[in-house]
Amino acid sequence: MRYGETGYNLEIDLSRGNIERAETDPRLTELHLGGLGTNAKILFDRVKPETEPFSPENLLIFSTGLLGGTPAPGANRTIITTYSPQTLLMGYSMMGGFWAPELKYAGYDKVILRGKSSDLVYLWIHNDKVEIRDASHLAGKGAVETQELIRKELKEPNAQVAAIGLAGENKVYTASIEQGRSSASRLGIGAVMGDKGVKAIAVRGTKDVNLARPAEFLELCNEVLKYIKYRNENPVPNVMTILQGLGSPQEMLHVDEKWHTENFMWGNARTRRKDYWNKEIEEKWKETQLGVRKRLISCYNCPMKCGAIISVPGLSTYMMKCFSKLTYTMAAYSDLDFGFRIAQKATEYGVDGFSTPQIMAFAFELKEAGILTDADFEGCPSDNEGKFYWLLDRIVRREGIGDVLANGTYWAAKEIGKGAEGYAHNNIKKHEQLPLKLGMLNPVYFLMYATGEKANITQIEGQFPQAPFATMEEREEFVKDWIQVPDEKFKQIVLDWEMRGERSNPYYPTVDMSVDIVDWQEMMHYIDDALGVCAGLSSFPLKPPYHIHNYPKLISAATGIDMDEAGLAQVYRRNRNLIRAINVRKGLRRADEKPPEDHWKKRFPELEEKLLDAYYAFKGWDNQGVPTKKSLRQLDLGYIAEDFEQRGIIKNGQD
Ligand code: SF4
Repeated sequence: MRYGETGYNLEIDLSRGNIERAETDPRLTELHLGGLGTNAKILFDRVKPETEPFSPENLLIFSTGLLGGTPAPGANRTIITTYSPQTLLMGYSMMGGFWAPELKYAGYDKVILRGKSSDLVYLWIHNDKVEIRDASHLAGKGAVETQELIRKELKEPNAQVAAIGLAGENKVYTASIEQGRSSASRLGIGAVMGDKGVKAIAVRGTKDVNLARPAEFLELCNEVLKYIKYRNENPVPNVMTILQGLGSPQEMLHVDEKWHTENFMWGNARTRRKDYWNKEIEEKWKETQLGVRKRLISCYNCPMKCGAIISVPGLSTYMMKCFSKLTYTMAAYSDLDFGFRIAQKATEYGVDGFSTPQIMAFAFELKEAGILTDADFEGCPSDNEGKFYWLLDRIVRREGIGDVLANGTYWAAKEIGKGAEGYAHNNIKKHEQLPLKLGMLNPVYFLMYATGEKANITQIEGQFPQAPFATMEEREEFVKDWIQVPDEKFKQIVLDWEMRGERSNPYYPTVDMSVDIVDWQEMMHYIDDALGVCAGLSSFPLKPPYHIHNYPKLISAATGIDMDEAGLAQVYRRNRNLIRAINVRKGLRRADEKPPEDHWKKRFPELEEKLLDAYYAFKGWDNQGVPTKKSLRQLDLGYIAEDFEQRGIIKNGQD
């Protein structure tokens, strides 16, 4: 009997139309837990690094996490893994909603797609019955619309459907996978799904998930729920509103956007509008948001309600959460009403709401600079909003200049030439970032930006405060009930951290402290992504209900695996190194590990080199960021050391 997980994956060969239910090795669960950890193991073992993202040999893996579908609050993430067309590295993106628990109830931990279908298809997984079905009638349909059409066709109103829109079908690098109340948007995974000829995966499951020690597990889940209630009633004081609570930033709840509109950048991540927010705008935006927001909604088994159903008159409804309410608005120098309207279209097309607006703002900046010309924009309306709608259409259809832009700013700039690369100024590892530009280098954020394998800062940061508290009273108040720290030393760092002077950024936290802080934050993200627990209840917010002290108990009670804090930290290190190894095989080295050049005005090259050196040494990597043989062997990853030797990445005999 397997506990927590089902012990079976669905292996689907789209080229042959072959479907197989494959039993998995329980030893891999002990080594990697599940979710991202076992996805990475499969990718390392089965996909050669030379494989192109749009090759039939590339895999697209949809995974539940080890705790997915159990009563653990927020254990609902679908972890989707492949080789990214955007970064040419391992791409992994996640979505909440309801899909992963449904897959587990159907009796599977993962769906592994290989090959390519010559015709557009969708998959229908209904417990033991699995079919590949024709989807030619769904070609060109919206990602949200498709979900409803499939539910009707199957006469299964409770089926959970993950679908791509036109952008995915056309292999736009920013294509997302949309699913009811969530989406997996980053790193071009929707493009790989489109390349495989899969429009959607529908799932309905009615089986049980077995738990090793159910009573104990439920008791632990109740403690988590109690703590969520406590935190909701006790927001963290002395930090900005969106950092006070749990969940994904509660952007659908809050209407005050002074902080984002005055601190994030407008246009192509260029202009800061310091006095933008005023009473009149506040009133207007509040009216807009409350007018279109039908109700706040949660993912499966979570009380947090981070998302909202949005209904703009004349348009079909869609779901929104987090910062995407502002990305189109600010890229186009427009207002919130425009943001909500164009996001509806973009969601149906199935595109990443972070990258896509930036790509469009980049294109119009290139036109202003004379690098792109009128001929590139033939037929484009002259009004600001019309321009953005027009270009969005061209991008998702890959028409004209849209075909170039569909590959993101990094690749588009290379193709356009004539100095365009200077305008693609907001990328890490070829991937577009949040339009945020700051003053003084923050050493912790430098490391997270530079070294994160997700190439996406919002999914790396977390439990450590983003900035020092102004007074000692505030610091003492913060640390007094900080039960989540893995070590008391983190409290002292917060107590000593000043806004100015010797103990302030960039030299404080010190290099070693910064490495420790980043390691803790990474650890929690890697554990969440293996367990399938939403970062919004664990690695992302301050003082979350899940942490390194209660996770081992939850894992043990759910799965029967004997887990303690040291063992869990070892699994994290193993998964961290495994993913690093996949990317090292794909060519990732120190030179790739850098934030956008203009992310901070004040840079400290010597300090930055020291930070990277210390981080690599701490991880057991060489000065290029390559794990050493010794550290790999200590993590039961000796087979990676051998692979590195065979490929000449590390030399024979070198340790
Ligand atoms: S915290 Fe928010 S995003 Fe996370 S599972 Fe709950 S509702 Fe979904």
